[in-house]
Amino acid sequence: MTYQGNGISEGIANGRIYRYLPAEIHITRQSVSKSEAGQNLEKFQRLRRTAMQELLQMEHKLQTTDPGKAKIFAAHQEMLEDEELQESISNAIEECYSLDWAIESSFSQFITLLSKAKDPLISARTADLEDVKNRLLRLVAGVPERNLAELPPDTIVVAYELLPSDTAVIDREHVKGIITEIGGVTSHTAIIARSYGIPAVSGVTDALECFQDGGEIIINALSGEVIYAPTQEELLEAAHLKNEYMKEKEVSKQFLVRPCQTSDHVSVKTGINIGALEEEESLLPYVDYIGLFRTEFIYMDSGHMPTEEEQYEAYRHILEKARGKTVVLRTLDIGGDKVLPYLELPKEENPFLGNRALRFCLEHEELFITQLRAALRASVYGDLWVMFPMIGSIGDIRSALTAFEAAKRSLEKDRLPFDDGTKVGIMIEIPAIALLAEEAARQVDFASIGTNDLLQYLTAADRQNAQVIKYYNAGIPAVLRLIDYVNQIFTEQGKTVSVCGEMGGDPVYAPIFAGMGIRKLSMGMSRITAVKQAMSCFSAEELCAIKDCVLEMDSTEQIVSFMKAEIAGKRDK
Ligand code: PEP
Ligand code: MG
Repeated sequence: MTYQGNGISEGIANGRIYRYLPAEIHITRQSVSKSEAGQNLEKFQRLRRTAMQELLQMEHKLQTTDPGKAKIFAAHQEMLEDEELQESISNAIEECYSLDWAIESSFSQFITLLSKAKDPLISARTADLEDVKNRLLRLVAGVPERNLAELPPDTIVVAYELLPSDTAVIDREHVKGIITEIGGVTSHTAIIARSYGIPAVSGVTDALECFQDGGEIIINALSGEVIYAPTQEELLEAAHLKNEYMKEKEVSKQFLVRPCQTSDHVSVKTGINIGALEEEESLLPYVDYIGLFRTEFIYMDSGHMPTEEEQYEAYRHILEKARGKTVVLRTLDIGGDKVLPYLELPKEENPFLGNRALRFCLEHEELFITQLRAALRASVYGDLWVMFPMIGSIGDIRSALTAFEAAKRSLEKDRLPFDDGTKVGIMIEIPAIALLAEEAARQVDFASIGTNDLLQYLTAADRQNAQVIKYYNAGIPAVLRLIDYVNQIFTEQGKTVSVCGEMGGDPVYAPIFAGMGIRKLSMGMSRITAVKQAMSCFSAEELCAIKDCVLEMDSTEQIVSFMKAEIAGKRDK
């Protein structure tokens, strides 16, 4: 049975289904008999021990691969050991409340107390308590644990959607493919899947309902097709396609070690986008810079609000690994589809249009200054550029620069060294600031184009929503014209422009950007070879001519087929 979705991370795989359905448990206030209450006391202690064992196992498993996450599970064990909490639950059981209600109500009291704490480090603990509570309630309900951190080999994960916090812990060794019901091509899940090289297809409606756990499935993220319970022929055909695909990849692999340049040796710097520095580290010798360091992944990974010291260490580590290559550190971009599990934020109807990224940071000045201080302290270990996301006005730039200066002054006061020449820049991802490029360029040292959001905000099509993907894609001709405009203005003022959104790593669009004169493109690690290969097909003059043609076009289809023909024409020669 074949289902059609959208390929959001290239590749072909087959394996067994694991449906990722976080348990939904409903609890109501109920009383039980005296004798049942007695049994519940024992049951509670038994389940508590089981929960401890689960947590201990997770802690051990992660200790070598990810000590940061291992600490979260250690902290959860401490919570389970808390005597006051245990006493409160036992009292409620003795008062003849049902076991689940006793757990729910006792935890809720503690959560309410903690959430009122002024210190964000303490109030952030509420999410951990919620986690521990849910673990116990799941055990009471007898529901087996579902998580993505430890899965059998050759697993295809099927989910409604995956949050960045899910993908952050995903078992990269054993997950061979991801299928989701929703999620666009530039959703962060897609970006992470691509950077991990895991094939992914989104927009497969009712996948959770239609597919069974353990069932065989083929995922073809090149065509967007998913074949459930495939026949022997379909399996053979998939194996053949996979072989062809791998062969093609092998050919482009030789480009990895080459510099990125046109056929007449004009160089276009290729950068890498990172969240942390994991597999990407091995690619550092083959790129010119780290063009987008999405720092929010450090916040999402850490299980608590990272302190200045923790951030400083993380940033310093990356700068040292970069060995003098530029590292563009983007300040915290939280909100939209990225949440911090330990930080409860007011619910917003339209989070992508809400209090996201810089807006959030300007409202939480202490948190912002902490990050800027950590970044500046690390700046002495390499070539750090600091970049602000979600800039929508000149006022936003001024506010961000004021915070940046305040962080510098506070470091001076503390006699801590930093590089006063650290460059500052902005992301161009809100159309309003693109149209104010003239004024914006005067305020900063550089700009980086975030095509993922720029397209989303230009076309009013949610980047997460597979249903509106055609409207999102239809914005390509408009976004290209806008980027050309921004580049011209910034270049006139001698300010550097790069592209760090997904279009910059797409071999179809990267040559167009180079034709505009953009000489820096940053991308996910799986895109580097293809971009280098595409760039090598053309001379600088040809790229300029291609750009002129493309900017005259008014449909994405026309642009894509024109570019594909141009690239194929060159490859066939
Ligand atoms: C972008 O919007 O293009 C971008 C690079 O930022 P992110 O994808 O992290 O929102
Ligand atoms: Mg963005």
